[in-house]
Amino acid sequence: MSVTIKSQREIELMRESCRILGEVHDALSKIIAPGISTKEIDIEGEKLIRSYGCVPNFLHYNGFPASICVSVNDEVVHGIPNKKKILKEGDIVSLDCGLIYKGYHSDAARTYGVGKISDEAQKLIDVTKQSFFEGIKYAKAGNHLYDISNAIDDYVTPFGYGIVRDLVGHGIGTSLHEDPQIPNFRQKRHGILLEPGMTLAIEPMINIGTWEVCWEDDDWTVVTEDGSLSAHYENTILITEGEPEILTLGKK
Ligand code: MG
Ligand code: MG
Repeated sequence: MSVTIKSQREIELMRESCRILGEVHDALSKIIAPGISTKEIDIEGEKLIRSYGCVPNFLHYNGFPASICVSVNDEVVHGIPNKKKILKEGDIVSLDCGLIYKGYHSDAARTYGVGKISDEAQKLIDVTKQSFFEGIKYAKAGNHLYDISNAIDDYVTPFGYGIVRDLVGHGIGTSLHEDPQIPNFRQKRHGILLEPGMTLAIEPMINIGTWEVCWEDDDWTVVTEDGSLSAHYENTILITEGEPEILTLGKK
């Protein structure tokens, strides 16, 4: 396993790639409403990414047919946009996307409620988001990688939710997925030492019910095995000597 340490020049390019992605997510959050199709979200997202002179890095990645992964309710990740799939009041929807700016990748995900949602669904979204922030409290030089994994698990498990195990976070840079893999559940080992200049995508995927997932026949869409709701929250971060820099946060 080789984990890349970014130079100051590369860090600047990562910052810009991620800053743009944060703005794309901010803009997409405003179009989430009952009546919109998941395909319309993808079309708008691709248009936005290209308007910055960037390239959507999910499009054609291992054959993925769209720029934005749009996953509804029990879909965990990798939902394929579809013009016949219309969001309705009470749904929750996860948008996962990334882009390439001057050869440097960014990656981030958010889950939103569509119109008014149940308290149960809102709590899942809130806990999933907060688990990212609990995890990155440990994302600093001198700590070990799995300190992040363990902190996410310690925060989420008391809620009785299932933490997805089949999919994990990752390093990111000149490739969308670099070493190391970053699980969101407790590890028996410490993992690598974190060093300044590492850029990592931390992305807890949390289910109300079981942690177990399966794949639909399209071979992309990951769904919860028990049909329970799932939420996703991801940012690309930079490890520094001190607090981590969250690069894809946007203005919100
Ligand atoms: Mg990712
Ligand atoms: Mg992602």
